[in-house]
Amino acid sequence: MRTKVIAGNWKMHKNNEEAQALIEALKNKAGGIRKTTIIVCPPYTALTGVVQSLKNSNIAVGAQNMFFEKQGAYTGEISADMIKSTGATYVILGHSERRQYFGETDESINKKLKMSLAAGLLPIICVGETLDQREVGVTNEIISSQLKGAFEGISDDEMEKVIIAYEPVWAIGTGKTATPDQAQEVHAFIRTFLETLYSNEVADRITIQYGGSVKPSNAHDLLSQKDVDGALVGGACLEADSFYGIIEAAEQLLA
Ligand code: PEP
Repeated sequence: MRTKVIAGNWKMHKNNEEAQALIEALKNKAGGIRKTTIIVCPPYTALTGVVQSLKNSNIAVGAQNMFFEKQGAYTGEISADMIKSTGATYVILGHSERRQYFGETDESINKKLKMSLAAGLLPIICVGETLDQREVGVTNEIISSQLKGAFEGISDDEMEKVIIAYEPVWAIGTGKTATPDQAQEVHAFIRTFLETLYSNEVADRITIQYGGSVKPSNAHDLLSQKDVDGALVGGACLEADSFYGIIEAAEQLLA
């Protein structure tokens, strides 16, 4: 039985002071949430402080990226072990902004996925098509090739730890949301495609989040779709009220 997982991707927002203020506000609001999994993904600089502030709370912490090597001369990079040592438990991998601005490929995402699992982190793997790709009708081909590339060499057991986020690139930070039907269609496709790579149990159990301009006003309709198991939230997670509005929508659906 799948529940709902709501993750907030802070991107390059919030210095340490601002991070603490947001976390305190969120902790106060979300203390009564029992069924929905809540994750916040601050920038690296705020990870340790946020983890400390969220000790004994119902909010988990993740990073937004990591490098695929264990250690070495990779100036400016952060390893999976370093993230793990902050106490964070999740890591977002393959976000479309990483693919677009930092040259990430399915191959590098696959290496990161393997290293994150080896370090004991729980990865959130992002996939999604651009507007051009949707308009020429190749959404399913793009999604399946991203999934195939990311999951190369990943076992059924390892897939138990993985979350997938479907994030149509045209809906990220644009205010344009996929309709609930559009989201459901791709989520169902992802689940069916996973059955070709893994057991039916893995496909049935895996959490597939939707991401792309999710806000309190559209969260209920998106999250009530059969194969939409949560949301990866950008803009709306930067304020406690709006992030909590999405969490509340998820929790009400689980009641
Ligand atoms: C994201 O960055 O993962 C995202 C979905 O952003 P937004 O909610 O702002 O569209």
